[in-house]
Amino acid sequence: MAFVITDPCINTKDTACVDVCPVDCIHPRKDEPEFETATMLYIHPEECIDCGACVPACPVAAIYDGPDSTPKSQGSLIEANAIFRAGEPDTVAKAEAIVQSHVAAHPDLMAIAPEQRAAAHGK
Ligand code: SF4
Ligand code: SF4
Repeated sequence: MAFVITDPCINTKDTACVDVCPVDCIHPRKDEPEFETATMLYIHPEECIDCGACVPACPVAAIYDGPDSTPKSQGSLIEANAIFRAGEPDTVAKAEAIVQSHVAAHPDLMAIAPEQRAAAHGK
């Protein structure tokens, strides 16, 4: 039941979560080539140990503690987190395509500042 990054990370992407993750399962890191073009960051669901350290570190409340607690409006991003693998162009492209579809489907959320977006996620 891995943690999930959702859309307040878009336009924020500050890597505060990367700095506190004990198992380096959040990507892309700033030193990975995908960082500049990635729309958001992703948590590898099989490497995440559910420690919870990333949640209070995130300044925009983008991280949920599992797929079941992730709001419905963010559902497609569960798959994006699961697919993304730094260093694999195919999975990077697939994850980014999901994120772009999410952005296109939620102009209402995207119009809200990242720090207020989680409050508008609903369930
Ligand atoms: S819950 Fe822990 S292991 Fe999982 S992404 Fe967050 S900091 Fe990393
Ligand atoms: S701390 Fe939050 S906003 Fe920053 S990179 Fe991580 S998930 Fe994205």
